[in-house]
Amino acid sequence: MVLFSGGIDSTTCLALAIEKYGKENVIPLSVFYGQKHEKEVEAASIALSLDCQVIYYGAHMDDAAGNAYPDCSQAFYDSMNQAVWEGSGKALRIEAPFINQNKAQIVARGLELKAPYQFTWNCYEGKERPCGVCGTCIDRRKAFEANGIKDPALGE
Ligand SMILES: [Zn+2]
Repeated sequence: MVLFSGGIDSTTCLALAIEKYGKENVIPLSVFYGQKHEKEVEAASIALSLDCQVIYYGAHMDDAAGNAYPDCSQAFYDSMNQAVWEGSGKALRIEAPFINQNKAQIVARGLELKAPYQFTWNCYEGKERPCGVCGTCIDRRKAFEANGIKDPALGE
């Protein structure tokens, strides 16, 4: 199971999980961000009910910086993984494959895996096309620029 938001981090996570386990063995799960701090718990109970053995989520170094998103920190990941592992009778674990990587490194990996970045969405503005100027749009652009390409979601 992959926690999936439609952005580049979780899309790369999904591509990674599909490469490792095969498309028929991977379930993307979208959890609304309003419940940010419970989303891992909710995902764990759904994953168990579906007999999943691993939950992937796209935590990475940039989001952990300054503790902007506490659930992206190594400490959070370690304790959540431990809690889920014990709480599930050692049937379910969490993997955060990018926890020690930045966004540019995630994009590099995703490009290798041919992740469909033209369909991803990070912008918080809720317009028809990404605005290109908000914080997440700028982070994305930098991550693609670091890999020598333009953000494929921005089109021409
Ligand atoms: Zn934006």
